[in-house]
Amino acid sequence: MRYVSTRGEAPTLSFEEVLLTGLARDGGLYLPEKWPTFTTEEIKAMRGKSYQEIAFLVMAPYVCPEIPENDFKELIDKAYSSFRHDGIVPLSQLDNNEWILELFHGPTLAFKDVALQLLGNLFEYVLKKNNDKITIVGATSGDTGSAAIDCVQGSSRAQIFMLHPKGRVSDVQRKQMTTVIEDNVHNIAIEGDFDNCQALVKALFNDLEFRDKISLSAVNSINWARVMAQIVYYFTSAIALGAPERKVSFSVPTGNFGDVYAGYIAKQMGLPIDQLVVATNVNDILSRTINGGEYKVGETIPTISPSMDIQVSSNFERLLYNVYEGDGAEIRNLMENLKQSGLFKIADEPLNKAKMNFDAMRVSEEETKNTISDVYSRGGHMIDPHTAVGVKAARENWRDQETPMVSLSTAHPAKFPEAVKEVTGKHPELPAHMADLFEREEKFDVLPNDLEVLKKYILENL
Ligand SMILES: *Cc1c(COP(=O)(O)O)cnc(C)c1O
Repeated sequence: MRYVSTRGEAPTLSFEEVLLTGLARDGGLYLPEKWPTFTTEEIKAMRGKSYQEIAFLVMAPYVCPEIPENDFKELIDKAYSSFRHDGIVPLSQLDNNEWILELFHGPTLAFKDVALQLLGNLFEYVLKKNNDKITIVGATSGDTGSAAIDCVQGSSRAQIFMLHPKGRVSDVQRKQMTTVIEDNVHNIAIEGDFDNCQALVKALFNDLEFRDKISLSAVNSINWARVMAQIVYYFTSAIALGAPERKVSFSVPTGNFGDVYAGYIAKQMGLPIDQLVVATNVNDILSRTINGGEYKVGETIPTISPSMDIQVSSNFERLLYNVYEGDGAEIRNLMENLKQSGLFKIADEPLNKAKMNFDAMRVSEEETKNTISDVYSRGGHMIDPHTAVGVKAARENWRDQETPMVSLSTAHPAKFPEAVKEVTGKHPELPAHMADLFEREEKFDVLPNDLEVLKKYILENL
């Protein structure tokens, strides 16, 4: 498979190159030049197979034979051996035809482990093969950071610098990152918000000289391999609920648009998905854009679902590329407007294409809390605030209640204990492997929101 940039001006690359490159050199994001598709028979044949087996079938067209099939199978097995549930991502029923998909059984308790555990193994494999080294710089609104650090900690081939917005991630999230004391792990608290952190990382990628000097790589969802790994659980869960004979709908708590975009790809690949609901918190740029056609950046407001406190949603550019039918010049135009004036408008035809695939809704803080409370009092399920945003949007947008509705449960409730305790009166317990998290020592540095200071810091600490 070859990969093309959404902005049409960077060279096409192979899978391994895309894995190590992250952002394209023209500022765009990489996508496969075509979607592989499965027939109904092929999807039927996935029934009864394990998560790992389906993962191989779904991802192989993107990866193999560039990585030989048997090697790729081994990487998948290794990646998911760190999960604490045999089903990897089990479904749990809330009500008649209403489900949540528990994506939080990986080492750091959020869905990002599903992609990043695989990414870490892919990095080691490719770097070893090429006898190469990389520097990973990432920005995190909380969960990417710990999942990325976990997947490369102790590597002799990858250094990781992780930027988080100072004081704006939960204590559990921060501790999960800053208590990892391996020499290749560098935690930085930036005096700013998540969008500032993300902008710093983008600026490093756009400084081609610096980028080459340190062999810069990305673990944010601008990295294609992350989006790819997330396609898998749409297949496994839909098949468990009766696909391909039966359609299934999904509601996805959304920030950077990576997770829900993976659902869109699953649909392009032939999975019969009825609805894809984009669920945002009050940082609602995506629901405003999909409903109104104008992508306009606002102020980030801190919420009880901090991993979605985002105003600049990187993966949305991938969808734009698809609904503009691969017109890189148009995408460059839109992005230039965004840079100049903080907004762009989507033309009618591409907007309608987006609307045909997505419903979108903003969920308030109060609705989020009420949903945590309602789910707990009705069935005893504790859900975290991000999951609650998804469940609320699912309930409000569900068109056909004969079609199963799956809300992606993106974090373990113990990752956001304050909000869950406030509503349910019960403190959600951390799993055993993390019970002593608050006794562990932390290590991190604080830096201003300043590109030059950050560059100097990276060079000094490499
Ligand atoms: C990252 C994250 C999200 C948002 O996922 P995107 O791919 O950025 O849309 C939702 N919930 C949790 C718990 C997260 O960590």
